[in-house]
Amino acid sequence: MRRSSTAAVAASSEQTGPDGVREPAGEVHAWHPGQNQTVCGLALSRTRLRRFPHVPFDYTATDQLTAADPVGWICPRCVAATTGRRRDAKRPWVRHSPRP
Ligand SMILES: [Zn+2]
Repeated sequence: MRRSSTAAVAASSEQTGPDGVREPAGEVHAWHPGQNQTVCGLALSRTRLRRFPHVPFDYTATDQLTAADPVGWICPRCVAATTGRRRDAKRPWVRHSPRP
């Protein structure tokens, strides 16, 4: 646990990994443990999303999903909300302003 502000994962499905640890699958959202809704505002109880408090929401907009990946869809609103708020992003923020 490095940061308490790090979002965890809520997903529509799950699979069990080789170590017997639950892994998110299907549709993936960001979720802050202790809250009853996702970062984008979906109610967990109404959408029947499963909670993965042990899995940090570490997806970015550039993540590529393959057919072998259990995750089929990453919520773009949750990605935008979590990556925009993250200050220690690995990629440097480069601003291009092509003004004449
Ligand atoms: Zn979402």
